[in-house]
Amino acid sequence: MSSRIYFDHSATTPLDSRVLEAMRSFLGGAYGNPSSLHQEGRVARAAVDKARAQVAALIGATPDEIIFTASGTEADNLALIGVVRASGKPGHVVAGAIEHAAILETCKFLATGGTKITHLPVDADGLVRPEGLLRALQSNVTIVSVMAANNVVGTIQPIEELAQLTKLHGVLFHTDAVQAGGKIPLDVNRLQVDLLSLSAHKLQGVGALYVRKGMGLAPIIFGGGQERGLRSATENVAGIVGFGAAAELTRKELNKEAARLAGLREYIATEVLRNFPNAYLFGHPTKRMPGHLSFGFSGQEREVGKLLDALDQAGVAVSAGSACSANHSGEPSSVLLAMGYDAESARGLIRVSLGRFSTQQEVDRFLDVLSSAVSALLGTAVSASLPGLANPAEVAFA
Ligand code: PLP
Repeated sequence: MSSRIYFDHSATTPLDSRVLEAMRSFLGGAYGNPSSLHQEGRVARAAVDKARAQVAALIGATPDEIIFTASGTEADNLALIGVVRASGKPGHVVAGAIEHAAILETCKFLATGGTKITHLPVDADGLVRPEGLLRALQSNVTIVSVMAANNVVGTIQPIEELAQLTKLHGVLFHTDAVQAGGKIPLDVNRLQVDLLSLSAHKLQGVGALYVRKGMGLAPIIFGGGQERGLRSATENVAGIVGFGAAAELTRKELNKEAARLAGLREYIATEVLRNFPNAYLFGHPTKRMPGHLSFGFSGQEREVGKLLDALDQAGVAVSAGSACSANHSGEPSSVLLAMGYDAESARGLIRVSLGRFSTQQEVDRFLDVLSSAVSALLGTAVSASLPGLANPAEVAFA
């Protein structure tokens, strides 16, 4: 068998050799603690500062607005818990209904301390409607959190519009940009967000929280006071250096790469819909991440686990939605349920997420392997019915 095809970049990405090169001296030779005053410490501090500027530049922030964390999850926790804690009251958190578990579980935790939680409904494409937000903003709200792009269906939210509405009510706005970071242009000032979470493991192994200058945020980890007292613990210098290098590469190559990946994605979508009469696509037809496609086979949702195993054995890595929650368990995806799909259709999602090293040749081989696997497993006699949804026309965007 020739080399494997990795189409699961929304779970995590392979390391770019240029990023590894930037990290190399901090993986072996250089070992200083950035808080130390001697030369080794100063070298590490300079490397962290350079990375901070590189990550800031990716999102139009200033370096002193970037707090490095250990993950996107930690950045999300710090954003919501940190704001509620700084407010001194349990307050009210408004979050999208299809947020990542890092937000939804943080909301559940905050609720145990008396915080009121409101979830914003989404439509069949996964979009948060501004009307829903306006309704939620009628009561006293501490912070609104809506993800920039969804990890399961790839839909990009109208963050600028939602943040603007939120600002009109004098309320803070956070966006989880763990999936969107480096894939679509993000500018914190144009978007008018106060907090924005990033993870480097989509680039590789560390996270960051953008914190708008002047806003109140309380720490959730206590210790030596690193990262302006907001995230104690000795910095992961090699990871941070890699994050910085990846942020810079991504910033320079983003537009070209996004256009290339969107082309490959459209090609896969067209071929899947042409080859399989019962195939249907999930998420918004145009407001979606460039290399992200999710689809299902109507009437055969329960076979997705077997189909993914067959693809894996044939050398292709794709996934059934989020790597962190939905898996081969056959459980309906909570994201699809919130988008209005019935439990059966919500079991059937296959996610293909392309990346920097994905090629047309790989896409063609993937489509061949998919055809063989589908005919072997699902049979060719398929019905052309649409998935179970109140208004199926909204998702059939072929
Ligand atoms: N938010 C979103 C949208 C994600 O997709 C993920 C992980 O995939 C996270 C948060 C958590 O990020 P991390 O794995 O860096 O903790």
